Amino acid sequence: MSQSRDSDAGSEQGLWRRLRSRWYVRIAPVVVAVLVAVVVVSGVPWAPVDRIMARAVPSAPAQSGASGSPEPTAATPTPTQPTGRYAARLPRFPAPPAPQPVTVPDGPSAAWYSRIPTTQPVAFITIDDGWVKHPEARELLAAAGVPVTLFLTIDSIKDNPGYFRQLQSDRVTIEAHTISHPSLRGKSYDLQRRELCGSADKLGDWYGRRPVFFRPPFGNKDATTLRAARDCGMKAGFFWTETVHEGKVRYQRGKTVQAGDILLMHFRPAFVEDFIAALVAIHKAGLTPALLSDYVR
Ligand SMILES: [Zn+2]
Repeated sequence: MSQSRDSDAGSEQGLWRRLRSRWYVRIAPVVVAVLVAVVVVSGVPWAPVDRIMARAVPSAPAQSGASGSPEPTAATPTPTQPTGRYAARLPRFPAPPAPQPVTVPDGPSAAWYSRIPTTQPVAFITIDDGWVKHPEARELLAAAGVPVTLFLTIDSIKDNPGYFRQLQSDRVTIEAHTISHPSLRGKSYDLQRRELCGSADKLGDWYGRRPVFFRPPFGNKDATTLRAARDCGMKAGFFWTETVHEGKVRYQRGKTVQAGDILLMHFRPAFVEDFIAALVAIHKAGLTPALLSDYVR
């Protein structure tokens, strides 16, 4: 019995020793982690705050904060690497050139472009309206990895603004296309201003960036359009040089996409075919898709 009690006492002491040793074993990594975190935090005071913030992934181990290669940014030009189930149908584009932007002239009217006056080997994909919210658009845009400019109509997207939020990225920007899609040409200043500025305000509220570009519905504009647009902070409006519909590219001049051209497609049922047709046409012409906002400043 006493043997047993001694044995129990002995085993209790042994258990305590084991627990204590386990406690130290358990705390050791915590101590190490804290020390590493202290070193990390105190070791990078010269790093730009935005780079630190960009790396501050919630719940990530502290050690990952200071390791790794330089943070890629939206401005880093890289070749596209199509991924996912569309990869085989998506062209691979070389890294785009460093943009040489056009500067919008100062004045009482917004600038107007049917194409971008550049000799750089780039073309611009624009997608209008937003009535048809194709379930594969997000996957396709992400897989292609190319810059795209969206001109969205408030009335066509207000049933589901979140759909377009999930399309947004550093390569996909949202610009204005009026509230109710009227033909603006010949309309009063007040109506045009309401349509253009009202839509820019709403898009700014929904997507966190107020558009600085617009496309008038049907491409119809007049001098009043450009004045109203400038009065509410828009820099430029855009027409187009090619349209894409049901998988076919239609050229307004020549038979190929040319440097600086702007391709127009819509959120329609043939979204996948249209988007791929636009990419293939740009690729065939030896060009790379670029972002309008990188080329018009
Ligand atoms: Zn439209």
